[in-house]
Amino acid sequence: MTAISFEFFPPKTDEQRAQLDRTVARLARHRPEFVSCTFGAGGSTLSYTADTVRHLLQRHGLDAAPHLSCVGGSCDEIAALLDEYRELGCRRIVALRGDLPSGMGQPGELRYASDLVAFIRKRHGDHFRIEVAAYPETHPQADDALADLRHFRTKVHAGADSAITQYFYNADAYFHFVDAVRALGVEVPIVPGIMPISNFSQLRRFSAQCGAEIPRWVEKKMQALGDDVEAVREFGADLVAKLCRRLVEGGAPGLHFYTLNLARPTQAVLARLQ
Ligand code: FAD
Repeated sequence: MTAISFEFFPPKTDEQRAQLDRTVARLARHRPEFVSCTFGAGGSTLSYTADTVRHLLQRHGLDAAPHLSCVGGSCDEIAALLDEYRELGCRRIVALRGDLPSGMGQPGELRYASDLVAFIRKRHGDHFRIEVAAYPETHPQADDALADLRHFRTKVHAGADSAITQYFYNADAYFHFVDAVRALGVEVPIVPGIMPISNFSQLRRFSAQCGAEIPRWVEKKMQALGDDVEAVREFGADLVAKLCRRLVEGGAPGLHFYTLNLARPTQAVLARLQ
């Protein structure tokens, strides 16, 4: 089995915290290389990420990587968070630009993820392993696909060790992306981000926001399955497991699962990969 990692979001209520604990306990059996915890660009959610990372490290004994976005914060705020993560014992950071919620002010002092990567390297040398985001289907705000590839190269050359992709359901987009960035001199591992399918209408909403394409035949099949929850689960797990198998056979160096804090959809995929 290839190296795997799991992504969680920070819970905000006691009920969500209990659910995350159950999910982590189940998924930890699959021995992830690391787990990561997302970060909201709005100020109010800052502490939730640090609290969750502390919990994942101390209660579950996992190598926990905070996501850190630069778009909403000052250099001082980002520096303080980095110090806090270092003190907690974190050795890995997922460094992002992030997105400002609409109407929420101006970008911060660091404009792009490449600026954040350089900032982390300048302050902390090689202490943190830095993961950055990659977009096999092109970032939705990119001027064009080639400019996006060049910006990705700049970000990696600023000091990233590895990249995790946005999720996708078209393996060819991933293989094409890897070939294209290798041709530009990018050598770091590019780990596919995998989104198991549980709730199709939610997936459609997410995908419209982040620019991930759902193939027409998948959309049509899901529409036909409608409210048959069990059939949707089976079809989704088969589809995503096939994608994972193809990616790993084609040389993907690992799989990073977007769990949405649920164990079952990710476990259904992993069970099919054993
Ligand atoms: P960048 O790499 O900075 O790129 C953003 C855009 O700017 C791209 O279109 C790029 O082509 C362009 N660009 C880059 N450099 C330049 C330049 N020098 N000149 C002109 N244009 C440039 N969001 C969150 O808020 N919290 C999270 O926890 C989170 N986790 C994520 C995890 C993963 C694995 C992924 C793939 C995404 C995640 N996101 C998260 C979403 C991410 O923040 C958004 O996609 C955001 O819009 C871009 O972030 P980035 O780090 O890719 O930005």
